[in-house]
Amino acid sequence: MSSTVITNIATLVTNDPSLGRGLPRSGTSGSGGDSPLGLVQDAAVVIDGDRIAWIGESRKAPATDNRVDAGGRTVIPGFVDSHSHLVFAGDRTEEFNARMSGRPYSAGGIRTTVAATRAATDAELEANLTRYLAEALRQGTTTLETKSGYGLTVADEARALRIAARHTDEVTYLGAHIVPPDYAEDPAGYVELVTGEMLRACAPHARWIDVFCEKGAFDGDQARAILTAGKARGLHPRIHANQLTHGPGVQLAVELDAASADHCTHLTDADVDALASGTTVATLLPGAEFSTRAPWPDARRLLDAGVTVALSTDCNPGSSFTSSMPFCIALAVRDMGMTPDEAVWAATEGGARALRRDDVGRLTPGARADLVVLDAPSHVHLAYRPGVPLVAQVWRKGVREV
Ligand SMILES: [Zn+2]
Repeated sequence: MSSTVITNIATLVTNDPSLGRGLPRSGTSGSGGDSPLGLVQDAAVVIDGDRIAWIGESRKAPATDNRVDAGGRTVIPGFVDSHSHLVFAGDRTEEFNARMSGRPYSAGGIRTTVAATRAATDAELEANLTRYLAEALRQGTTTLETKSGYGLTVADEARALRIAARHTDEVTYLGAHIVPPDYAEDPAGYVELVTGEMLRACAPHARWIDVFCEKGAFDGDQARAILTAGKARGLHPRIHANQLTHGPGVQLAVELDAASADHCTHLTDADVDALASGTTVATLLPGAEFSTRAPWPDARRLLDAGVTVALSTDCNPGSSFTSSMPFCIALAVRDMGMTPDEAVWAATEGGARALRRDDVGRLTPGARADLVVLDAPSHVHLAYRPGVPLVAQVWRKGVREV
């Protein structure tokens, strides 16, 4: 096992406030200001094998086998994208184009993707998945959750999860994405399938169970039955909640101790209070609002109430076809009331909390050596320079991948 020191880091984001504080105030030296990011200026990071062994001021860095000069750039933890839908085939360009052109579009939406996914071979699905994983990695994402949900038969859901599990540990069973056309007349029969035979086939390949709790998808009672059945099989819940309308999803998430309630776009005060009093993370997915011209979730309201907030891409071919965490950070800062520090935290440590992980999303001794070198003097540039490819290097498990 060899050790490497990365020196000459202008700004290091650790996400451990005990290791450093905010950006220096103008006219002062050293660090100052409140930030959740635990910033260290003129820093170095030591990697030993696949772990972080040491962080601190560059001039105090210990001797190592290898030395890398960051050239006065910024180092942040690799992004943790805790919500994506990457096992699919086909494309919905025409639907997006029609929506953005104000034209009606009557083709099947998600059903289009279900048909294409069912028709694809295993090799085609895996090639598609690896392509988007590589795309995310190039943009700094080193941990990525992904879901089934475009098969909606026992065999197609199980194979989606089997393929996903070859590429990430964070795999979610989403048989309850929509009621498929074959069960349009018998939604209760579909819930029975999702909680019975399909669950038994899928549980061995997944860590999480998810449900789209929304008008037109699954109501509160159905969602509770599905998540409870998953829990009994050892899967932990997370929920697509309150995306399009007010609904029971967020309160159900807190009631069932879901790791995350995702979307949280339409919230009552009672929803916000429930999130603030529980351990469920509110995961905001601004790519979806961007791509559907929908109202933004109010991150400021959640943060001011003390809710833990994560940011994620929701990468999927229908409503948010971006794999870019920097893009989501920029939207969250510009349109959702987050400070740049809060948004960077939410895209790293926040995502880790939404996956109940304490080994990623931070750069502290013992954490996995997943880090991104930004071609910028500070992490604020992620929002300040939207759309600019600032990711210069990506290290995952101590290995430089980009
Ligand atoms: Zn989603």
